[in-house]
Amino acid sequence: MALRKIAQIGHPVLRQRARELTRDELAAPAMQRFIDDLVETMRDANGAGLAAIQIYETVRICAIEVRDNPRYPYKPNIPLTILVNPVLTAVGNDTFDNNEGCLSVPNLRGMVPRHVHLHVTAWDRDGNPIDEVVHGLKAGTYQHEVDHLDGTIFVDRVSDPRTFSTWAEFDRFHRDAFVEQATALVARVGS
Ligand code: ZN
Repeated sequence: MALRKIAQIGHPVLRQRARELTRDELAAPAMQRFIDDLVETMRDANGAGLAAIQIYETVRICAIEVRDNPRYPYKPNIPLTILVNPVLTAVGNDTFDNNEGCLSVPNLRGMVPRHVHLHVTAWDRDGNPIDEVVHGLKAGTYQHEVDHLDGTIFVDRVSDPRTFSTWAEFDRFHRDAFVEQATALVARVGS
C-alpha cells in the first residue's frame, strides 16, 4: 500500500466526471491495490471520505469511514464503506444544513444544504450490490463524496458564501451551534 497525493482545488482533475467501472476492471489486482491506497490515504489524512478522483484516478469509486474522527468529532461512526459506481436518489424533500470541509480544499468550511434521506445503490469492492437508505450526517457524507465523482466540490453548493470559515474560526465561533443542530438531527433521524 502507498499514500497518494491529494489533488487540491484548482487542479482540473477535480472538475472531471469520473467514469463507471466494469466488474472485470474492478476485480483487477491493480484496481484492488488502488482501493487499498485510497483507504490508506483517507485514514492518513483523517478524512471522513475520499473519492478516487481526489487522488487523480477518474473512476467512480469512493471510500467512506468515520472512526472517532478528530476532524469531525461530532460525526457518528460509519464503518469502512467502498462505493463503486454509486447512484444516489433523494428520498423525500427533507434537507438540512451540513457544515463541510474537504481534503481538497485547504482550511475552509461552509454550510451546504443536503438531503436528509438518501437511497444508495452501488457495488462494494468485490462487486456485490449495495442497496440501502442512509440518513442525516451519514447521508451528507455520501453526497459530498459522490459529488466529487461528478466534478463537484462542496464550495459549489454553499448557498450562502458568508458561512465560509477557516477551521480555527469554525471552532471558535460556529462549532457549538452546529454541533447542537447536528446532534438534534442525529437524534431525529439517526446517524
Ligand atoms: Zn471532499
